[in-house]
Amino acid sequence: MRKKIVAGNWKCNTNLQEGVELAKAVDTLVAKEAADDVVVVLGVPFTHLTKVAETVNTNRIGVSAQNCAAEAKGAFTGEVSAEMVKSTGAKYVILGHSERREYYGETSEILNKKLALALENGLTPIYCCGEPLEVREAEAQNEFVKKQLTETIFNLPVDEFKKLILAYEPIWAIGTGKTASSEQAQEIHAFIRSIIAEKFGNDVAEETSILYGGSCKPGNAKELFANKDVDGGLIGGAALKAEDFLGIIKGF
Ligand code: 13P
Repeated sequence: MRKKIVAGNWKCNTNLQEGVELAKAVDTLVAKEAADDVVVVLGVPFTHLTKVAETVNTNRIGVSAQNCAAEAKGAFTGEVSAEMVKSTGAKYVILGHSERREYYGETSEILNKKLALALENGLTPIYCCGEPLEVREAEAQNEFVKKQLTETIFNLPVDEFKKLILAYEPIWAIGTGKTASSEQAQEIHAFIRSIIAEKFGNDVAEETSILYGGSCKPGNAKELFANKDVDGGLIGGAALKAEDFLGIIKGF
């Protein structure tokens, strides 16, 4: 049985004090009210990793970075390596988010280096894919996503691929209030699973968790998560309020 996962992506929000407060609130609510079989992850800014990992019960809540460097170490001013992330107590790293691809020029080549370093350092990548609006309007989303995966994670050896969590995030649904319909989400998640099966076999495809991201909220989580190929969510805006985040976790 593949894992059900709800991961928050705080993006560039909260100062350290606010972040610790939010993590505390999530920790308390999750301990009291979340179903045990839902994996909960908090994707926080680099500056917050250590404190958040000290604040939450890390046996229950995983801590994630939102990025890591494409180089292992050295003269790369301002970069934070996968090894550094790991040393904070974080266990996950979000890679390939559309905001990184779009605003920071992260190509497949760069992402392959990041993936390799994250895996080498024992981090679990939460690997994002998803198409922009014009691609969806041209009904070319499957080809677009297939290319994103073929150029990156499909190059991994199967034993490495099995460590990943995938997230499908249509760019037109991120922060826009426009959610993919339940049918649209199921359709493309099933497609992603089918191409994983082609590449790595059915068993691997069945074991891979594929999260949906893009304006997921307490009000629509249940319907999205009810789909057989939607294994949870990667949550932006609604992860910034502990109650909303819990509401989404309860969508299972
Ligand atoms: P929103 O939930 O704010 O649409 O963001 C989704 C996202 O980008 C999560 O990584």
